[in-house]
Amino acid sequence: MKVVVIIPAAGLGTRMAAAPSVRMAKPATSKQFTDLAGTPILIHTLRRFAAHPGVSEIFVALRENEMAPFRSRVEKSAKDLLQKKLELVVGGEHRQQSVANAIGAVQAADSDVVLVHDAVRPFVTPEIIDEVIHAAEKYGAAIAGLPAVDTVKQVERTAEGALITATMPRERVVMAQTPQGFRFDVLKRAFNEAIADGFMGTDEASLVERSGHDVAVVMGSPSNIKITTPADLELAEFYLRK
Ligand code: C5P
Repeated sequence: MKVVVIIPAAGLGTRMAAAPSVRMAKPATSKQFTDLAGTPILIHTLRRFAAHPGVSEIFVALRENEMAPFRSRVEKSAKDLLQKKLELVVGGEHRQQSVANAIGAVQAADSDVVLVHDAVRPFVTPEIIDEVIHAAEKYGAAIAGLPAVDTVKQVERTAEGALITATMPRERVVMAQTPQGFRFDVLKRAFNEAIADGFMGTDEASLVERSGHDVAVVMGSPSNIKITTPADLELAEFYLRK
């Protein structure tokens, strides 16, 4: 069994940009290319997988104009990533499309495991990667998740803000993280069905759930953060110093 990793990294990261009133003429750097201690977040993330002994291939979905500069950056200052087969594919308009393009480039057996991981979660640990791989092998589909510590409300958006429509029982709520791992046949079937039905999800597990396959949850970590806003970047710098 081999393990293939897909990193969707073709987002624009608009939530990382400065407020509109202070936005510069120069377009903001996509969040996955924002520097963390002098190295783009994406490279920090890729290092976690390149260094993992169980991983054999990594596919990164990028915006077309970012592919050549990224390849030169890796060849110049992140050669360690090339210890694994590293393939760049063109991303799509949405995360799901970026992952679909990468799936299209993967050559694997049905029973091989594919992990999908956000480009902007550089603090994933070898233990979490291991657990997701093992659970994906065992159950066909598994994600890293974290029990909710806050009470989760369902709301209806209004012109002024939001109104609560329901309170979720907290013990039944898990915050989904990545990696999300799947047997290749399970992932391909879920994507084919979603595309045929015009369904768009915010993670891969939601596609697999709707295809009728159970998805297991293994323990993620509070430090496996998704760097989304400038405040997350400060937290990331703190974690890195530790
Ligand atoms: O924007 P969001 O938080 O959903 O992004 C999650 C991940 O998906 C990021 O790593 C981002 O680069 C990636 N993405 C992508 N293609 C898109 C949009 C997002 O690969 N079109």
